[in-house]
Amino acid sequence: MTDSGADVTRLPRTELRERQNSRLQETVRHAYENVSFYRDRLAAAGVTPDDVTSVDDLTKLPFTTKEDFRDNYPTDLFAVDMEALVRIHASSGTTGKPKIVGYTENDLARWQEVMCRGFEAAGLDTSDTLQNAYGYGLFTGGLGFHDGATAMGMAVVPVGGGQTQRQVELLSDLEATAICLTPSYALYLAETAAEMGYDPAELPVETVLYGAEPCTEPMRAEIEDRLGATAVENYGLSEIIGPGVAAECRAQTGMHIWEDQFYPEVIDPQTGDPVGEGEEGELVLTTLTKEALPVLRYRTGDMTTLEYDTCDCGRTMVRMDSVTGRTDDLLIVRGVNVYPSEIESVVLEFDGVAPHYRIDLSREGTMDRLELTVELAEEFDGDRSALRKSLLDRLSNVLSLEPDKLDLVAPGAIERTEVGKVQRVYDRR
Ligand SMILES: [Zn+2]
Repeated sequence: MTDSGADVTRLPRTELRERQNSRLQETVRHAYENVSFYRDRLAAAGVTPDDVTSVDDLTKLPFTTKEDFRDNYPTDLFAVDMEALVRIHASSGTTGKPKIVGYTENDLARWQEVMCRGFEAAGLDTSDTLQNAYGYGLFTGGLGFHDGATAMGMAVVPVGGGQTQRQVELLSDLEATAICLTPSYALYLAETAAEMGYDPAELPVETVLYGAEPCTEPMRAEIEDRLGATAVENYGLSEIIGPGVAAECRAQTGMHIWEDQFYPEVIDPQTGDPVGEGEEGELVLTTLTKEALPVLRYRTGDMTTLEYDTCDCGRTMVRMDSVTGRTDDLLIVRGVNVYPSEIESVVLEFDGVAPHYRIDLSREGTMDRLELTVELAEEFDGDRSALRKSLLDRLSNVLSLEPDKLDLVAPGAIERTEVGKVQRVYDRR
């Protein structure tokens, strides 16, 4: 069932649809026959595998949620015996139990294959050296990228997260042409390189593969500018496979979802109904080939839109927009709905501002209180109060947001994250 990456990503959509339909039927049957959770859920919805003959029937099926993973901890969602597994990962459980995910040998092979498609889309080949700055271990990021790059034949430098000065020295000495990491860490790496006396833009990195955190276009531009590289986004989540669900090509117009493996829908997070084509909503994914852990209609919590027209690169597979926010990240401040990424976009419009900020929310009596702290750019030598006023005006005009406090702080004043995901929002309400 392996496909050559180059061909399958350019399949005519009618052929792709046939493949999706037959794989969906197999997946639903596999889940129904081997996972009691799905057997019960489908029974409760009055659906049998025979009722699902094409992706148009998906809406008959109930959603799977992250709570379902937690309720079925550790391995009750697995569709194979433990002997059939060759790998187990877990998502970071910031609250409660982690989500445990498992892979058969075929699952690992497909994971490598989708990673290779992403590398190809990013313009990488066997002559590239990839420095992997994602954390190894239970987190899927490190080993996902590592195995994919190895399968493709790139040289991998498995540094993992942290040790930033060492990362910079290795990048420079081993001449890695590509690096994979979170967007906030890419900026921190550039900063550290500058402190060490390097010109970050002169480092050998030509391609930055970033992901695992939301990243706005102005943030991407900062990364490209500072590292003198092309930055492309990657998307994935452990519950579906890990990294490798979707990857951006050099056209930089959204991430191609590898649709022959993962079927995407976009729904209204409130009603659960599908939204119209090109409209924003919550991404829902169904695995089409997974053996150990088939997942039907998983609510990712990630807000995005899908573009179905053929990309400039010639690939026919749908593109998803950079994730604008997670349904559980939505901030409601005095009745105004806003995603942290929207605040980021506004803040980074200003040249005098560095791409580092934090949002503090608290409550005074019954009133929300919003404090925004923004770092000044190293080169800023203008009028602080004028910058402050323009920022406040812009936040008010674009987002109807009026912070109770806006602090402009010195470069480097906001704490950096070396390992794991950056935290920018502190909600103490
Ligand atoms: Zn493309």
